[in-house]
Amino acid sequence: MSLEKPKVKRKRSSIGKSKKLEENMFIVQEHQAKQKHWDFRLQVGSKMVSWAIPKGPSLNPKTPRLAVKTQDHAPSYNDFEGIIAKGLYGAGKVMQWDKGLYEVDGDIKESIKHGLIKFRLKGYKLRGKWALIKTGNRWLLIKLGDKYASRSVDILKKHPQSIKSGKKVREITKKDGYIEESKDLGF
Ligand code: MN
Repeated sequence: MSLEKPKVKRKRSSIGKSKKLEENMFIVQEHQAKQKHWDFRLQVGSKMVSWAIPKGPSLNPKTPRLAVKTQDHAPSYNDFEGIIAKGLYGAGKVMQWDKGLYEVDGDIKESIKHGLIKFRLKGYKLRGKWALIKTGNRWLLIKLGDKYASRSVDILKKHPQSIKSGKKVREITKKDGYIEESKDLGF
């Protein structure tokens, strides 16, 4: 695996200069819960606005992926990797699949409200233009056409490892991290 740390060109960024970069983080956690999914989270102020993607992201613009809106998440758990104890919501293994920065076209809160979010990702694995589109009660995560789009590369198979530990999700153990408090953390 050779993944480059995302380069941040702060001055050329379309993110307002006054904003701190960490306010625009995105993360993707591979989550082996009762049903496997990838939690896709965009930082909006002090919250991580979240979607669960059962099949994970696809680089192919022709294969939009169902994204189920889930509850907001606390940024303090962005770096968590480990086990969520049995009996808790989201019980199972959590692995840091990707993280980085995102830039949104327009206002993120308005975009969420209107069900159309167009953004660019600068992650270790996910790059370029993407969109989250609400159709009825469902959202879809779609790769938009650019040099990072691909009809042949399965990014989940090409880069299955954690960006934190290099482990695959099944290799995660309690030693990596363990959540046993009964508070609902929104995983
Ligand atoms: Mn989850």
